[in-house]
Amino acid sequence: MARLPVRLRGLATSAAAGLGFALCAAGAPARAADFDTWLDGVRREATAAGISERTIEAALTGLKPIERVLELDRRQPEFTQTFWAYLDRHLSAQRIERGRRLLARHRKLLEQVRRKYNVQPRYLAAFWGLESNFGDHTGRFPVVGALATLAYDERRGAFFRAQLMDALRILDQGHVEAKDMLGSWAGAMGQLQFIPSTFAAHAVDFDGDGRRDIWGSLPDVFASAANYLASLGWRGDEIWGREVRLPASFDWELADLTVRKPIAAWQRLGVRRANGADLPKADIAGAIVLPAGHKGPAFLVYGNFDAILSWNRSLLYALAVGHLADRLVGKGPLLAARPVREQALSRAQVREMQNLLVRLGFDPGERDGVVGSKTRAAVRAFQRQESMAPDGYPTPELLAGLRQVAAQRAQSD
Ligand code: CA
Repeated sequence: MARLPVRLRGLATSAAAGLGFALCAAGAPARAADFDTWLDGVRREATAAGISERTIEAALTGLKPIERVLELDRRQPEFTQTFWAYLDRHLSAQRIERGRRLLARHRKLLEQVRRKYNVQPRYLAAFWGLESNFGDHTGRFPVVGALATLAYDERRGAFFRAQLMDALRILDQGHVEAKDMLGSWAGAMGQLQFIPSTFAAHAVDFDGDGRRDIWGSLPDVFASAANYLASLGWRGDEIWGREVRLPASFDWELADLTVRKPIAAWQRLGVRRANGADLPKADIAGAIVLPAGHKGPAFLVYGNFDAILSWNRSLLYALAVGHLADRLVGKGPLLAARPVREQALSRAQVREMQNLLVRLGFDPGERDGVVGSKTRAAVRAFQRQESMAPDGYPTPELLAGLRQVAAQRAQSD
């Protein structure tokens, strides 16, 4: 699973720490050079960073770009992901069942990890299930080769060059043998899919053998994830959030991650647990999330949800982690009714929507066919103008509405 944009959040620190950023920023003509010449520059940088010649030789000698990595990096999904389809794909009955068994099997270890890092076992198991299907899929690409390929490529060269330096440092420190340093095409490694900068900053040796082994040691895998989550502000005495029911009179403008209110304030606004019961009386703040628009399920999310989003910026991923964790400890499925048919927008439709929004004077950000926060905000502004429920959620009906308004506008001009 590749989730670059997310991990780019760590970019500022990791890139600044590596010389790669400085070299590229100074305008090194890496693109004009062929791969081997470029690789010589990497060797010099690694040497200057104190990485041993032995490691550099072993890792970089004979290295070639991996065509398949570039293919995967350039691949663009044809359709947007919808909430229920995402949940079905990532939370199969089989995965939930297996997660429950594994949670029981590793209970003792997970409790040890909880005592040290204050992250509840069910969340570690949920991340584990989503990141690698409990260790089944940790990636088969040689990490150094994949990162070198992406670092040589011009699109995000500086970021991946810094990751490459971190990867060489990890090898140099002896945490893993070069031949065993495998990961995703984007360099995410081990059972929790850490990129090298995350490994460098947060991986820990919990079994005490001197190596941080996020590939083969479950104590290291769980403790590294918990340590990372703790650094992202995880609270061991709070849950991630919960499914809620909104009143018919709900002001959809309030359904926004940036609108935080104490639980008591949401209760006063008519928000209830999904089964209709009062919200808990706890002194924490939360935000309302509508991953499928105002007709879909609603969630009240707390601070731990932000930590999940820092791990992976995808809203659907974060909801899947939270819900899977709930399911692993016996909570039931979501109570919201599933739509008869969920309509995914194609990339082309989203691009058309973005173009129409621009034509009508809204700012959807880059017209890339991807629904990001700017596009959602522009959709919301359009919905407000047209007196539609302003949930910021693009649907085929919304696209039809945009076409209609644009056509009317063109006629009256
Ligand atoms: Ca270890």
